[in-house]
Amino acid sequence: MTIIFSFICLLVLAPLGLSWMSVETYRTISTEIGTALGVIGFSALLTVFLLSGRVRWLSQSLNIDLTMRWHRWLGFLVLGAAFLHPFFFGGSLAGGERPWDPTRALTITTDFAPLASGIAAFVLIPAFIMLAIWHSALGYRYETWRRIHALGGCLLVLLLLHHTITAGRYGSQIILSILWISGSVLAIISVFDSHVIRNIFKARKPWAVTSIQEVSPKQWLIGVSPTDGKPLVYQAGQFAWLTIGKSAYSMHEHPFSISSAPSSGHNLSFLIKELGDFTSTMDQITLGTKAYVNGPYGHLTVDGRTEPGIVMIAGGVGIAPMLGIIRELKLTHDPRPILLIYGNRRGNQIVNQDELDAIDPIYVVSEPDENWHGQTGVINAQLLDNSLLPEQLKSWLFVICGPPLMLETVESYLKTQRVPETRILSERFNFG
Ligand SMILES: Cc1cc2nc3c(=O)[nH]c(=O)nc-3n(C[C@H](O)[C@H](O)[C@H](O)COP(=O)(O)OP(=O)(O)OC[C@H]3O[C@@H](n4cnc5c(N)ncnc54)[C@H](O)[C@@H]3O)c2cc1C
Repeated sequence: MTIIFSFICLLVLAPLGLSWMSVETYRTISTEIGTALGVIGFSALLTVFLLSGRVRWLSQSLNIDLTMRWHRWLGFLVLGAAFLHPFFFGGSLAGGERPWDPTRALTITTDFAPLASGIAAFVLIPAFIMLAIWHSALGYRYETWRRIHALGGCLLVLLLLHHTITAGRYGSQIILSILWISGSVLAIISVFDSHVIRNIFKARKPWAVTSIQEVSPKQWLIGVSPTDGKPLVYQAGQFAWLTIGKSAYSMHEHPFSISSAPSSGHNLSFLIKELGDFTSTMDQITLGTKAYVNGPYGHLTVDGRTEPGIVMIAGGVGIAPMLGIIRELKLTHDPRPILLIYGNRRGNQIVNQDELDAIDPIYVVSEPDENWHGQTGVINAQLLDNSLLPEQLKSWLFVICGPPLMLETVESYLKTQRVPETRILSERFNFG
């Protein structure tokens, strides 16, 4: 994680370093600060594209929550930098290009086009970020907002690219122009890749729904199988974007953890909890319906881990990736011991209990009925204290998935027990 954090800082700050290295004379401190804010704002915007959650190699090494958190922080950095940027140029000598100032060391431009793109970005960035924060409160469907977010991001890149190259002192230099153009092209390609290219590949490989089962109230196990017989190569615990009953080019693809095991064959299964527009239509899906799978993504996998045992802590539908991991460990005769702590509100929400009973899990239910004989309450510090052995805290791997509150509680408990972050894999089911 530290390596990736350093990599992101490098991406954001390197253009500024290169800019300052490219000249011999500097302007007033105020003008340089204004320029630095502009440069950092633009490089942060380009880096945001890398942290969209859709870049496969990054998603396999970086927690999706962290990726999205950094995506948002960088968004706020863009907002702050863009907002402050123009105010530092007060007092600078303004006007068009001066023959005696070819490197714009003394003057800033006031030509219409270079300023217009900057002003348009200045106005659009806050609007764009406000929409990102309040899209659901404003009643936007997730898919509509996602399209606006992607296209709006590309528009901002184009505006800032134009402004940086035509108005900026550093951006107008050939090396830096090439750098900014390349970064912008890559950012736009990444959107094109996730919204068009991957869909073309998806369309060429349809899947079909082969099983639909309501395994507990409002939780469905959906099985899909590749119509060309070629399996998806994935690791147990990863997730994929699933489209069911819609075109491969539609925006209706949703992330779901794969709850089948790679070693179990070509079919994939997904445990889906009813929540909103798409997930509430599970009862309308029929066998044979066309489906598309875009994946795998995610880092919630125990493959290659060397810890002597695995503690899995799941809340509700957070059991989905755990099912995949448990099944894979069984099929591959993995000798690592497992402890599963699985919380639900009611006993009848426990899925695949017969299968799970084989690993002797700790079931926790917060609203037990009179037939409940397991643990009661929620997964909190006290329950973890009573359930975990010192050697598990000392050396085992922790895999956590569930509602935000449970994740926060478990993560802060593990922190107090000095379990290092490197031994904790967690996933929130929310892209924000
Ligand atoms: C990595 C990951 C793994 C997940 N695994 C599972 C799983 O195994 N089982 C399960 O039941 N749920 C899982 N989810 C949650 C699941 O993706 C959402 O519940 C589902 O997309 C909701 O869609 P909806 O149209 O029914 O609900 P809506 O009411 O339309 O949306 C509810 C919320 O779900 C999220 N969401 C909706 N559509 C999308 C989309 N296309 N892409 C991303 N997020 C979206 C948004 O935060 C939205 O506010 C996972 C989520 C993530 C991020």
